[in-house]
Amino acid sequence: MPIERSPVSLPPLSLYVHIPWCVQKCPYCDFNSHGLRGEIPEAAYIDHLLQDLHADRHYAQNRTLQSIFIGGGTPSLFSAEGIARLLDGIRAQVPFAPDIEITLEANPGTAEAERFNGYARAGVTRLSMGIQSFDDDKLKRLGRIHNAQEAIAAVAMAKRCGVRSFNLDLMHGLPNQTPEQALDDLRQAIALAPPHLSWYQLTIEPNTQFASRAPTLPDDDDLWAIFEQGHQLLTAHGYQQYETSAYAKPHFQCQHNLNYWRFGDYLAIGCGAHGKITFPDGEIIRFSKTKHPKGYLQGNYLYQQSAVARADRTFEFFMNRFRLLEPCPKTEFEQFTGISAGEITPLMAQAQAQGYITISEHHWQLTRHGALFLNELLALFLTE
Ligand code: SF4
Repeated sequence: MPIERSPVSLPPLSLYVHIPWCVQKCPYCDFNSHGLRGEIPEAAYIDHLLQDLHADRHYAQNRTLQSIFIGGGTPSLFSAEGIARLLDGIRAQVPFAPDIEITLEANPGTAEAERFNGYARAGVTRLSMGIQSFDDDKLKRLGRIHNAQEAIAAVAMAKRCGVRSFNLDLMHGLPNQTPEQALDDLRQAIALAPPHLSWYQLTIEPNTQFASRAPTLPDDDDLWAIFEQGHQLLTAHGYQQYETSAYAKPHFQCQHNLNYWRFGDYLAIGCGAHGKITFPDGEIIRFSKTKHPKGYLQGNYLYQQSAVARADRTFEFFMNRFRLLEPCPKTEFEQFTGISAGEITPLMAQAQAQGYITISEHHWQLTRHGALFLNELLALFLTE
C-alpha cells in the first residue's frame, strides 16, 4: 500500500553512537553489551563507526548536529585519543551546532583522571556516570565492578576535568532494599551536587540473569514510599523532574534525550543503534544497525529499516512526548507528524475527560494523573 505523505518540517538532529563492550555483564542488564574477552578492537571499531556514518550522512539534509550521545556498553573503556578521533571524524561529515552537547557514558570502575581530562579536550561536554548505589553490598549484588569510594572519586574527576555538566545514574528498588537505604543512596548522590540525576527503579527484564534467578525486590508499598519521599527530597534540593526518571537543576536538562522525547531526528551508528529520520515530503523512517560486533566489524551496518505509517504516528509521537512533563505545543505535533491537531481532537477530548491531560489553545499538558497512568493514556492513541 502506498504511504500517504503530507509535508512536514524537519526536526532537530542528534546522533547516537553505541559502544558495545563492558568489563563484564551485569545481571540486570538488557542493553546490547558484551563482556570483554581480550582486547577491544578500538581502532577498527572507530573506523567502522565513521564508515557507518558516511553511508548515512545524507540523512542530515543540511542540518547541524545539536547533540551526540556516546552510550553503551561502557564507552569509557575507549581511550581519550580514540574518542577525539571519533568526534573529529564525525564533525568532518556532519557539522556541529555551536552549542552542541556531547555526552559520554562512563563507568566509575573505569574512571581515570587523565582519561576524563582527555575526553573533555576531545569535545565531550557532559559525562554520564553509572553509579547505581553507594552501598557496596548492593553494588556487588548488581554485579557492578566499582565500589562507593570509586564512584565518589569518579565524580570528583568529572567536576575537575572541564566538562560543562555531568549526570549520575542511580537506581532504587534494589534487591532487599529498604526505603531508608534507597533514600540514603539518594542523599549521598545529592550531596555530590550533580547538575543532572537519572533516578530510576530497577526492573527485571527478560533474557537477563535476574529474570532467570529473580532477586527479592521491595514490595509496592515500599516502592511507592521510596518514590514519594525521594521525589520530595530531590525537589527540596532544587532538582526539577522533567521526565519520568530524569531530574535536573535549571538549564541542565539532557538535550539529547529531550530531542528523542520531542520526536526529533537522530542518526545512529554502532552495534544495535536505532535511528529515526524525517524527510521533507513527509516520509519518516526508523532503522537499526547490526547488533553483534562480529557482523558489524565485517562492515554489515544496516540491520533493518521501515517507514513509520501515518496511522502509527500519533501513538509514536505521544509515546515519546508524554514522557515529558512540559506542555506539548500543538504546532510541533503538526509539524513533525504531518497530521493536523484537528484530526485528533476527539481523542484529546477523551484523554481530557479521563483526567490524563489538560488542553489550552496552543498546548496539551500531561496531568499528574496522566503521568501515573501513562500506559492507559497511550492506549487511547493505538490504532486498531
Ligand atoms: S555496565 Fe551498564 S551496559 Fe554494561 S553490562 Fe552493566 S548495566 Fe549493562
